[in-house]
Amino acid sequence: MPEECDVCGETVPFSATVHLIVNTQSDAGTFDRYVCRSCYDAELEPVVG
Ligand SMILES: [Zn+2]
Repeated sequence: MPEECDVCGETVPFSATVHLIVNTQSDAGTFDRYVCRSCYDAELEPVVG
């Protein structure tokens, strides 16, 4: 099942996505993001650790 990357908008195979559960630290609570591996490596890994 393909997923759309939340960063670049590209449709990528599920196996190539990273599922993130983002905690907003606010009343909005948490939400799910799917990003492709390259975006995860480039942009998100330093943020989420
Ligand atoms: Zn991407």
